[in-house]
Amino acid sequence: MAKPHVSVAIDGPVGAGKSSIARNAAKTLGYIYVDTGALYRAVGLFCKRSGVDIADASAVESVLTEVRPEIRLIDGVQHIYLNGEDVSEEIRLPEISMAASAVSAIPAVRAALLDLQRNMAETNSVIMDGRDIGTVVLPNATVKIFLTAKPEIRAKRRYDELCAKGVATTFEEVLSDLNTRDYNDSHRETAPLKQADDAVLADTSELDFEQSCELVCNIIKERV
Ligand code: C5P
Repeated sequence: MAKPHVSVAIDGPVGAGKSSIARNAAKTLGYIYVDTGALYRAVGLFCKRSGVDIADASAVESVLTEVRPEIRLIDGVQHIYLNGEDVSEEIRLPEISMAASAVSAIPAVRAALLDLQRNMAETNSVIMDGRDIGTVVLPNATVKIFLTAKPEIRAKRRYDELCAKGVATTFEEVLSDLNTRDYNDSHRETAPLKQADDAVLADTSELDFEQSCELVCNIIKERV
């Protein structure tokens, strides 16, 4: 009998290092890394481009059938396509982060993206990061990790990342966006950001990138 697929759910607030740590752990352990935030970002980008008011849930809901986000793995790396176009870079812009946060609170948006995420985990061994992976998307995940760090530390990491990409911003702006998104994500009614009861808490405030990767890999290896 074929070995069942392993699924690792990593949830946590903005800038906890989920994506870089999960990508690294997936490479080390030979799993596929799935960044679910990219799907919400693609929906946010579609709304921005087509002039849909992201604060108007029914307006967003009415265009959902026109939004076809897709995850494609190219050389093992996730690319996100929106209606056939690779938008992997564009979805990283700060205004798209805020748009993603707004549309992600709309239950119809979450419902529309659920099967896509579950299908990835049914057909591959995955490390999937997001906000509701351990609580809603993969409640039976093999391993669940809630990754966090102090807000100022997360904001500093995110600020450095944006500066390296040449995005004009300030630390204060990044910290304020991060706090707003975290607040929205943890206070929405549908699938709010929260630690699953059976998730392991990993705080990386005092750890550098290598130490954080090691911590996460060890948590996974001990449980698989
Ligand atoms: O992880 P990332 O910052 O790219 O996610 C962008 C936004 O998408 C988050 O602020 C959150 O509102 C939303 N999101 C979500 N559920 C997920 C992944 C992301 O609501 N599983």
